[in-house]
Amino acid sequence: MAPAWSLVLHGGSGVIDRADLKPEQDRAYRAVLARAAEAGAAVLEASGAALDAVEAAIRVLEDDPLFNAGRGAVFTADGRVELDAAIMDGATLEAGAVAGVTRVRNPISAARAVMERSPHVLLMGTGADAFAAAEGLRQVDPSYFFVERRWRALEKQLDREGLIAPTRPLGASRDESHAALAHDEGKRGTVGVVARDVRADVAAGTYTGGTTGNRSGRVGDSPLIGAGTYASNPSAAVSGTGQGEHFIRLSV
Ligand code: ASP
Repeated sequence: MAPAWSLVLHGGSGVIDRADLKPEQDRAYRAVLARAAEAGAAVLEASGAALDAVEAAIRVLEDDPLFNAGRGAVFTADGRVELDAAIMDGATLEAGAVAGVTRVRNPISAARAVMERSPHVLLMGTGADAFAAAEGLRQVDPSYFFVERRWRALEKQLDREGLIAPTRPLGASRDESHAALAHDEGKRGTVGVVARDVRADVAAGTYTGGTTGNRSGRVGDSPLIGAGTYASNPSAAVSGTGQGEHFIRLSV
């Protein structure tokens, strides 16, 4: 018999070799993933909607600095954090997304607001941030997203490319308290969740900071419905991770 509900989440395609991972790092990553899974599972267990479970699980990951989403997102080549997120309801084929936002604390909730409270599917940049603010979603200073090890990853990446690193953003914290637990997973990382609820409705959500050192203004697959995120009850719920340009070209 098929399970009453199901939930699958990923923490991105950045490579973490098991052999390189110290036991305390392994525990730290698993603990956050477990918390996210539990947040989604609690919704589904109470016969809640797949869409709510997806949003609840992603919000846990986006608030955690270990993952490339929200706090802990990677930097663009000019030292900015630009966030992309999308959510889709497989029961109705309604979808919402934001791209290049810099001020809304939980972009997955902004994506959901676009879906439910605007006639649009995708809002970008300052217009998307302004929409989120008008909808009452919590705003933060862009320095909130700054994490020291991501800054060092940007410096390394630009050095490899023979480019000069930008100056550190104003107000950036030098707090490295979580750094010992974080693992350098390379240029990428994203979070994604798919769920099916007890009514067999499915939903998908994806959220990313993009790839380290990408150009400001670059948008990957994650917020594009049909590339990095898709859900429909008769087919499946999908959240992608990997080099977004390939997903876009192939309409994955
Ligand atoms: N797909 C994301 C992007 O290209 C990155 C990732 O999944 O790691 O923006």
